[in-house]
Amino acid sequence: MEIISGARPNAAHLSLARMEAAGILKAVITQNVDGLHASAGSRNIIELHDNIWRVKCSNTACSFKSLLSKPPESIPSKCPRCDSFLRPDVVWFGEPIPPEAKY
Ligand SMILES: [Zn+2]
Repeated sequence: MEIISGARPNAAHLSLARMEAAGILKAVITQNVDGLHASAGSRNIIELHDNIWRVKCSNTACSFKSLLSKPPESIPSKCPRCDSFLRPDVVWFGEPIPPEAKY
């Protein structure tokens, strides 16, 4: 997480954000999980593999999700609702893409 937290948008991220702001581009569809498109200023982002900066509850019956503002100090953390372990809100091998990423 420390490496990812030090990453900054590159020229491609910034160009896509400027294209969206100019009305040339409707959305960014990405497999990246680093959140750099949002950092660059893109607004309509479809993250096929979700985002490493969110955590979600590992208990599939619990819907807890939270956006992190910095890397967690201790991993794994526990869900404040059900005390199950939290996990990164990213798609792991064998998991489906998130429903909100489908058209
Ligand atoms: Zn939970």
